[in-house]
Amino acid sequence: MQKICLLGATGSIGQSTLDIIAQHPNKFSLECASAHSSVEKMADICRRFTPRRVVMGSEKTRDQLAVLCSDLAISFEWGEAALESIAADSNVDQVMAAIMGFAGLKPTLAGIRAQKRILLANKESLVTAGKLFMDEVAKYNVTLLPIDSEHNAIFQSLPQNLDGAHTQDVRKLLLTASGGPFRTWSVGDMQNVTPEQACKHPNWSMGQKISIDSATLMNKGLELIEACWLFNMSPADVSVVVHPESIIHSMVAYCDGSVISQMGNPDMKIPIAYGLTWPERISTQVADLNLFEIAQLNFEQPDLQRFPNLRLASDAWYMGGTAMAVLNAANEVAVAAFLNKQIGFLDIAQVNEKVLTSAEVVAVDSLETVFDADLYSRNLARDVISHGHFL
Ligand code: NDP
Ligand code: MG
Repeated sequence: MQKICLLGATGSIGQSTLDIIAQHPNKFSLECASAHSSVEKMADICRRFTPRRVVMGSEKTRDQLAVLCSDLAISFEWGEAALESIAADSNVDQVMAAIMGFAGLKPTLAGIRAQKRILLANKESLVTAGKLFMDEVAKYNVTLLPIDSEHNAIFQSLPQNLDGAHTQDVRKLLLTASGGPFRTWSVGDMQNVTPEQACKHPNWSMGQKISIDSATLMNKGLELIEACWLFNMSPADVSVVVHPESIIHSMVAYCDGSVISQMGNPDMKIPIAYGLTWPERISTQVADLNLFEIAQLNFEQPDLQRFPNLRLASDAWYMGGTAMAVLNAANEVAVAAFLNKQIGFLDIAQVNEKVLTSAEVVAVDSLETVFDADLYSRNLARDVISHGHFL
């Protein structure tokens, strides 16, 4: 029986993880869970899974949840310290890091330092803390399993997985991208798109923030950086391949010309189940892949003119240090502003570029430097937005 701490239980990844846990009650149990403000959703989770500890974002939401679930023997807690504490709980075997955004960094690090097996969906934590994150993984000898479908696919297509062996045989990583809902749209057409349009991903059903990131290609930019940290590569070793059907989840090209890929229907339950049981596999209720129905797989070059975020991510990697935390923070602020209809869709990349090119970038020598860069960049992004000084 594997005891799971599910950070971000009320989200899209949270829901898919709960589906796998519910499907295999003799293999997994939900030991701890967290949400930010979704009280009703968390009350349902508490009724179905009775975790031992549950953490909410504020005292108020914790109290509301405790009232709704007063008949259940659960410890209801709140705040950052409690979040770190459940990730490090001595009963927990595996931590699913599925909080949205930079807020996931500290609890994920707490899980690493407590030597839990880490299932990483929260790409922003690795993108922002980078080397520091990977150094902690090595120092605490932690098994880090990528849940992001592309990185999970690369992991499955590598011979010796994450320990670095045989990587000299790897020529390139081919990171696939659906292209998002505006793949074929002109810049003019994208000018006035609404949050509702941008959230409608053609293939995947996901949380709001990552859906917008998929539409701007910032998600692929974050994933490019994520792949570089996870697999010890640089952007020159990673080709982004637009593949609108989202059936090939990514590929590894080897020095002998072989290309190995992982395929499947676009359903996050596949990488989640693989992470939970690796090196074994377990059944999911995902439908069989029907290649006759799919009939065609297409591939295109990404268009960096229409989707500059992908270029910005690569720039941030080569700038190094806090540049990736700066870019991520600007993007989190810009996406929230777009969702609140304060800025237009195309302004997101403009805010990101403005902040990345104006912020001071320093070496990451501690977690404080990452948090300072994040705070500085958020303030700068808010300032840029409120003054309309995008470029
Ligand atoms: P959702 O928005 O659906 O869910 C986010 C979860 O995080 C919710 O439980 C939410 O709680 C919680 N949360 C939000 N803000 C905070 C905060 N400040 N502090 C603590 N908890 C918070 O996101 P997704 O499930 O789509 O994505 C989660 C992560 O997984 C992201 O990093 C994303 O990039 C990554 N990912 C997601 C994929 C997907 O298919 N969805 C695919 C690959 C990666 P509440 O409900 O109370 O707000
Ligand atoms: Mg992905």
